[in-house]
Amino acid sequence: MSQIQLQNIVKKYGDGFPAVNDVSLDIADGEFMIFVGPSGCGKSTLLRMIVGLEDITSGEMLIDGRMVNDLAPRDRNLAMVFQNYALYPHLTVFENIAFPLRLEKGKHSEEEIRGKVQAASSMLELDEHLERKPGNLSGGQRQRVAMGRAIVRDADAFLFDEPLSNLDAKLRGQMRTEIARMQRRMGITTVYVTHDQTEAMTLGDRVAVLKKGILQQVASPRELYEQPVNLFVAGFIGTPPMNFLPARVNGNVLSLPFVDVPVSGRLAEQVAGKELVIVGIRPEHLKDASLGDAQAQGAVSFRAPVDQTEWLGNEQYAYIPYQADEAVQHKLDELDRELDGEGMRTQMVVNLDGRSRIREGDEAQLYFDPAAMHVFDPETGDCLT
Ligand code: ATP
Repeated sequence: MSQIQLQNIVKKYGDGFPAVNDVSLDIADGEFMIFVGPSGCGKSTLLRMIVGLEDITSGEMLIDGRMVNDLAPRDRNLAMVFQNYALYPHLTVFENIAFPLRLEKGKHSEEEIRGKVQAASSMLELDEHLERKPGNLSGGQRQRVAMGRAIVRDADAFLFDEPLSNLDAKLRGQMRTEIARMQRRMGITTVYVTHDQTEAMTLGDRVAVLKKGILQQVASPRELYEQPVNLFVAGFIGTPPMNFLPARVNGNVLSLPFVDVPVSGRLAEQVAGKELVIVGIRPEHLKDASLGDAQAQGAVSFRAPVDQTEWLGNEQYAYIPYQADEAVQHKLDELDRELDGEGMRTQMVVNLDGRSRIREGDEAQLYFDPAAMHVFDPETGDCLT
């Protein structure tokens, strides 16, 4: 059992703005939990408070039901896997893994150490490398040695702080797969901090999205993608990011750039009385009508000028500029700043499949299923649907 509970956790450095503001979260035994958000959102601070490297200003931290607020890091039995793996270059893989056991002088017999290191190295597929030095290992193997150290200690949980951020894209992809495989195999509770939404989506059983110290949403990757609770989460999850389009509300019709969309039921009730909303449509939900694929019932089609295309083989992106509605542009600019964006919100991005023949300068015939729309309140940013 190793369950980690955060109850109304607050962290203030000095008397400034809280770096972590009233975060409550239960991490289940064996769960792979990701903390994700842009730089400065408080994710590392949160992780450091779990490990005990940072004091908690208020709130309670529980591990397996026991309050650990005042417990020293070494007494929490958690294993932090650092970005540089913190391996000793002059020691073999065997000795690096055995290191935490040797530190507990006299507690383990040589036979016991050998048994534990061997069990860990076979789980991590390192048996063949036990006599090598870290300098002769690949990045992935070094990562596994670092995990091996945590395993021999029988740590209750693994904690990772951006372990892949210094690697190039290819290696990062390989290591990501490796970490996921090892974690699933061992079933150890894991908390992993990253600012990379791809890592978050591919690794996490659940993902906690943070903004300015405040927890925005905790959900499975699929739920974050399909049902983001606000503009921030919607814009953070997904590549290319969700399009945010201003829409005038005219009775039961939403007037988007290029197209009017009739609304009914719950959505019609939610937008009633508003003049303006922000409609989110993911680039992959906009389709090329000329491909002749079956369209969902109620699909809405429209023509739009394509300014630029990017062909990637299996898919292509088409960029469609539109006239900004000043009334919502300030909200979108603010969102863009929060997402560390480049201020390119007045063009719509379409993720077309590789078969599409749409080219720059075309008037493309596109369609989408209105059920795929996300509708947001322009003031609060909350999702209305
Ligand atoms: P990054 O990805 O850039 O590391 P983060 O999301 O992990 O960002 P934190 O490092 O947790 O964010 O920082 C959250 C906020 O707390 C930031 O505004 C940061 O400047 C502030 N902060 C972090 N550590 C300290 C410190 N030791 N003293 C004062 N302020 C700090």
